[in-house]
Parts: sequence; C-alpha cells; structure tokens
Amino acid sequence: MPVLGKKFRPPEAFDQAINGYYQLLPSRFVRLDGKRYLLSNDVGEFLVVGRGQLADYIQKKVPKGSDFYHDLKSKCFLVDGDSNVALDLLALKYRTKARRISQFTALHIFVVSLRCDYTCRYCQVSRQTDDKHAFDMSEATADKALGLVFKSPSPTIKIEFQGGEPLLNFSLIRYIVANATAENIRHKKNLQFVITTNLSLLTDEMLSFCSSHGIFLSTSLDGPEQLHNANRPRPGMDGHKLTVEGIKKAQTALGRDKIGALMTTTEKSLPAARAIIDAYLENGLDSIFLRPLSPYGFAVKTRQAYKYDVDRWFEFYKEGLDYILEINRQGHRFVELYTELVVNKLLSPFSTGYVDLQSPSGAGISAIVYNYDGDVYASDEARMLAEMGDKAFRLGNVHDDGYEDIMLSDTLLDMLESTLSESIPMCTDCGFLPYCGTDPVYHHATQGDMVGNKALSGFCGKNMKIFRHVVLLLEDDPEARETLLGWVRP
Ligand code: SF4
Repeated sequence: MPVLGKKFRPPEAFDQAINGYYQLLPSRFVRLDGKRYLLSNDVGEFLVVGRGQLADYIQKKVPKGSDFYHDLKSKCFLVDGDSNVALDLLALKYRTKARRISQFTALHIFVVSLRCDYTCRYCQVSRQTDDKHAFDMSEATADKALGLVFKSPSPTIKIEFQGGEPLLNFSLIRYIVANATAENIRHKKNLQFVITTNLSLLTDEMLSFCSSHGIFLSTSLDGPEQLHNANRPRPGMDGHKLTVEGIKKAQTALGRDKIGALMTTTEKSLPAARAIIDAYLENGLDSIFLRPLSPYGFAVKTRQAYKYDVDRWFEFYKEGLDYILEINRQGHRFVELYTELVVNKLLSPFSTGYVDLQSPSGAGISAIVYNYDGDVYASDEARMLAEMGDKAFRLGNVHDDGYEDIMLSDTLLDMLESTLSESIPMCTDCGFLPYCGTDPVYHHATQGDMVGNKALSGFCGKNMKIFRHVVLLLEDDPEARETLLGWVRP
C-alpha cells in the first residue's frame, strides 16, 4: 500500500464530507465584504453567509434542524434522505429561468436611418449628416427584414426604430408599422413598437400616428439644460428645450407611461448625479437608467469613452442610487432601471430578457438588428462596431440570407458557444454568475476577444460592484430593501 505523504490526511478524514447526512447541490460563492459571502446556486437562489457558515456547509457540518440547515435545504443548496423532491424542484426552477431562450428573439431593431440632426461627441452609432439620404433604409429592405421578424417563434415581438434619428425617415416607420400590423393578423403575436428618438422633429401628426398604434417613445435626457446641451449639441444649442417640449407633448398625447428617457454618463455628468435625477423628476419621468458610455463610434474617436474609469462611474451610480432611494422613502416611486434589472435577477424566478445579463449572451437570440443597408447584426453594439469598420458580428444581409442562414450562421453559433458564462474562466467560479451575463461585442472591442479576461474587464468590474452593492443594501438597509422589493415585477 502506498505511503501517504505528510501533506495528505487519511481517507477517513473525508468520511464526513463523503458520507455526511446531506449531499451538496451545485453552488458557488463570492466574497461580499470582510466577513460575509454570497452563496448562490444555478437557479439564482442565494444566501448571505459568514465564513464559518460557509465552511460548515461545505464540510457537511451544518446541524440538522438548525435554521441555517432549513434555509440551505429550502433554497436547494443541499439534498438529504428526507427530500425526494429537491432535484425535481431544482430542475423546475432552472427551466423557468431558461424559458426565454426557447422563445427566441423578441426585440427586433430597425435602423431606419443613420442620419441625425444632432452632433453628439459621444455618439456611439457614427451618425451621418441629415442630408445624406443614402443612409436611409428602403421599403424593399424593410419588407425583407419584416419577413425575418415574423419567423421568430417568440410570442412577443417588439419592433424598435433606431437611428441616427429615426424620425428623419418617418414615412418608413409608417410603412413598417402598417405592414407589420397587417402581417400580425395572421401571426397573432403580442406586437409592440418603440421609437428611440431625440424628439426634436416630433410633430402633432406623428404623435397622433403613435397614439393610434400604441407606439412607445424612448428619448435621451442627459440632465439639466447646460449639461444636456454640452453632451448632446445640436445646431442652435436648443436640444434640451426641444427634448423637454417633446416629452411634455408626448405625455399629453400618449400618456405618461408611453414615454421614457435614458441618460448617458460623460465626464461632465459625474459631479451632477442629483441634478440629473432632479431633471427627470421635473419632467414627470418615473425612471432613469444610469448608463456608462460604451466604447463605440464617436465615443472612441473623440476619446470620450476613456475619460473616466469603472471606479469613478460606480461612485456616480452609488450617489445617484442613494438619492433615488431617498426619493422613494419620501413616498415618490422613482426607479433606477439597471438596479431594477439586478433586483429582479436576484429575487424573481423569471429571466429578465436583458441582452447583456444572460448566459449565453442574448445577442441575436433575444435581440437582433437590421441595419439601414440590410445587414443583420447580433446586437446594437455590433452594428455600432460595424460602422467603425469591424464587421465581426455581421450575421448576414436580408437581401441575400434567409432566417435559417442567419440564425445558424457560424458567427452566431460561435458567439453563443463562447458566451456561456458557466464555461468562461473566472465566471465559472463566480457567485454572481446566475445574475450576470457576458457581452461578446464589448470584450471583442476592448480586448480583441469575445470572452475576454474578466480580471481586466470593465463589464465584469461594473457588474461585480453593482451586484455587491445591491445585495448588501438588501441585507443591511431595511428601508432600501423595502423600496427594492417594490421594484420586483410580479
Ligand atoms: S463577468 Fe464578472 S461578475 Fe459576471 S459572472 Fe463573470 S466573473 Fe462574475
């Protein structure tokens, strides 16, 4: 019999671990602070535990009948001789979380024009001047793209019009809405439309069309007048005035729930978190998305994307979220949308469908983009990258390729295979994995590789900080917890 080296304990030392009265179910953990860890499993159940509890759990020393044992068992972290349903329950929860994958692409983005009347320095889509009609989508291209839209098995189809400024090609929006609505009589999908617009060209006639077709509007408001106009210049520097007027007109004509706004964080925004949120409140908006700049388009050319790092952006986010929680405490419901997504990932049994927080990535299978020239891209960021000359995520063209060619293209299949977080170095061991995702376009753009080294990744750095912060708010701050629980969708 071989002699065991001094470093190894004898086999009986492991008896408890092998033969203990419970078996471990798959789980991961990640440090939250100096004392606590997040213990999570594949279906997103989690417990915040001390180091001693974590060691006891792994070494199968948790006393049977203790509260901790009960929590571990009810959240599917262990199975014992008494539980004959634990594995079935785990499988059911997993299927519920993954159900959206089988439903496939719900969001279809039509870039109806790359022209724009703004000259934003941080523009991520490389807009063209508003006289260059060669950058408009044609009816023939729209017809082909619509043919692909209705091949998706998803019961919900959301068609989002983007640009440039999509209102510069409003006749095509009318055309697509009319044809999609007619086509949907046969398909009976839950069909929705969204126009992402700066609102400067919005007319009463357009509003009446939006009203009669239940179209949502999504706009950009970067904060108070001076900041908005500095971030989003327009000839005449009247962008803020036009945006605010447009929001009011849309709220009156369509209803307050039919218009929302997004902001983009520039270096100038960083000291103004509260003022930005106040601008949203003043304009009757009930949510904000505190978004960092993405490294695409003019944001790269003008170096805007590199003017702050993840740490500085996170300070901005934290200050903004603190203020939002204070507003909610005073009785006014106001939501930070990324935090809402994270809270739902943490506390809801359902998937959110947010492209960047999915495994595999939702690019192509949750959202897809039809560019003005008919090229099909896996995500909005993928087409932004293409406008910079890198077509790595081009899936085909609506004039040359059918649905199967696009959905079974090597580009999409390779991307899906590379974006399973469960097999990505660092993610595979990360306790935040069930709530996180992977952004292949971001990692390709910043590291030249779809997977990327997560230790160097701004995507990972941002998400780790946010997950940690939100979990500790839920754990340590009863008032914040009450507000955040109110953001969980039924
Ligand atoms: S990207 Fe980072 S935070 Fe997300 S699962 Fe991977 S290692 Fe964890």
